[in-house]
Amino acid sequence: MLFSALVDVFEKLRKTSSRLEKTAIIADFIKGVPADDLPVIVAFLTGRVFPLWDERKIGIASQTVIKIISTITYNPENKVVESYKNTGHLGVTAEEMFQKRKQTMFFEADEITVRNVYDTFVEIARLTGAGSATKKQKVLIGLLHRATPKEAEYIVSLAMEYVLSGAKEGVMEEAIARAFGVPVELVRRSNMLISDLGETARVAMLTGEAGLQAINIRPMRPVRPMLAQNVASIQEALDAMGGRADFETKYDGARLQVHKLGDEVRLYSRRLENLTDALPEIVDYVRQSVKADSAILDSECIATDPKTGRPVPFQNILTRLRRIYNVEEKKKLFPLFLRPFDILYLDGESEIDKPFIERRQILETTILPLDETCKPAMALITDDVKAAQDLFKESLKSGNEGLMAKDLNATYTPGVRGKKMVKIKEVLDTLDLAIVSSEWGHGRKAGWLTSFEVAALDENTDQYVVLGRVASGFSDEQLQEMTERLKPLITAEHGRIVDVKPDVIVEVKFQEIQKSPIYSSGYALRFPRLVRVRDDLSPEEVNTFGRVMNIYDISHGIGVKHAEPQPDG
Ligand code: ATP
Repeated sequence: MLFSALVDVFEKLRKTSSRLEKTAIIADFIKGVPADDLPVIVAFLTGRVFPLWDERKIGIASQTVIKIISTITYNPENKVVESYKNTGHLGVTAEEMFQKRKQTMFFEADEITVRNVYDTFVEIARLTGAGSATKKQKVLIGLLHRATPKEAEYIVSLAMEYVLSGAKEGVMEEAIARAFGVPVELVRRSNMLISDLGETARVAMLTGEAGLQAINIRPMRPVRPMLAQNVASIQEALDAMGGRADFETKYDGARLQVHKLGDEVRLYSRRLENLTDALPEIVDYVRQSVKADSAILDSECIATDPKTGRPVPFQNILTRLRRIYNVEEKKKLFPLFLRPFDILYLDGESEIDKPFIERRQILETTILPLDETCKPAMALITDDVKAAQDLFKESLKSGNEGLMAKDLNATYTPGVRGKKMVKIKEVLDTLDLAIVSSEWGHGRKAGWLTSFEVAALDENTDQYVVLGRVASGFSDEQLQEMTERLKPLITAEHGRIVDVKPDVIVEVKFQEIQKSPIYSSGYALRFPRLVRVRDDLSPEEVNTFGRVMNIYDISHGIGVKHAEPQPDG
């Protein structure tokens, strides 16, 4: 299939903001594409080259793309940078510069297929280590040389994984269902189980409903985690679960999905990133304590301060852990512990349709702890509010976040935030928001971005709506780190203010939500403070404006009007 056909679809998608129209455009197109090209086309249409969990990364910096555009179009680099500042998007800049090339030079574009583009990305991802930047550059130039301006725009956008008209996951699920006449619930189920829309689409095309139904979880392929709703009290949790439930410490660490197949172990974050290389000690613990040929475990990984033994915020140390290669040194700096709390797969069989109580028993017989490093999460099955309250107090005292409560009869429902697993935390009022703009600091902090406008996603318009400016809660080190993170995401500059691509999600604590004309949402957070950067959340998991209104309504005694949002959808 020609890449230009896909470019036409991207352009059509760009012209509409209607979800229904987008779904129809995609469904019409993917219906007719060859089955072999379908997975790549579906991935490209969602703005990705490889699935989320794939180890392969393109790894091309904006600076390299600027050089490439400059080389091909014979424009000095500063000209390309100038255009980038105006357009705020390297893909659009590529299109603009290629357009001029077309007018000034004799140039005839050569046909490019979707496969050509994909194979080039695969080759680029394979290049690692010393000298790889130059090699990657060469390979991408080879492809872009043949491209029309519009093709260049989308090749660059895909290389940077920032496609302006990329379809959201929910839209793609609906389009697949519509294109191949299968129920959307089955498409979503498959995507939650194998985290791969491309493969899901191919199965839907070739074997329809029966094929989708046969899809199941498998080791080494991350599953979307089951998520929890907030409840205000232990009593509320018990009421929701028929008067008796499993209460567990809500450990203050990071969620880790553990996959074991023979001797091989892989670890995935909450957003399904492969963390295996960063956590070799956890791999050892799993090999020692998990008595199974194959297994998938859901667990929390806790990092502790060796002096106090208390948990330290995991996200803050992950970057550091990634840079230390000596395992013994890692162990000394931040001893890690693994607390598996669920089992989804064991020795060739999926366990997710069994009730929680059975899965818990299987978990306990599968993990044979050698010591404190890896053992099942602490669990108490009770109908006694007082016993659960004592556990809650103990959890907070030991530096953890509160309690989880689990319905004894519930199956494991990947990707669903429901009432079968709930969390009871001390602080309810935090939101996970995207940073959409930022301001350069003064004086000592010149050169750092120091305050950050945070926004929720309005699910009706797909627009980010700003709720406030966060400037407190950051250490100098965090400000420096945040500046490094945001710099590559800058899309436009207006004096001291920069707009950034909403890829960084932060958890923000606040006193209350007020109506306010200052920000685009019409509301403002009072006394917003940073709690932590949510590296474990993907940009799509930013809280919705519906959720913000939900908290506003509850705190103003209006009652629950808006449905609890479903993440990942
Ligand atoms: P939060 O910000 O509250 O951690 P979240 O959106 O990351 O929430 P939720 O599913 O809403 O995820 O809350 C449950 C989280 O609590 C899990 O993602 C997991 O990381 C953590 N956790 C800690 N201990 C447990 C436990 N015993 N059982 C289940 N989850 C646990």
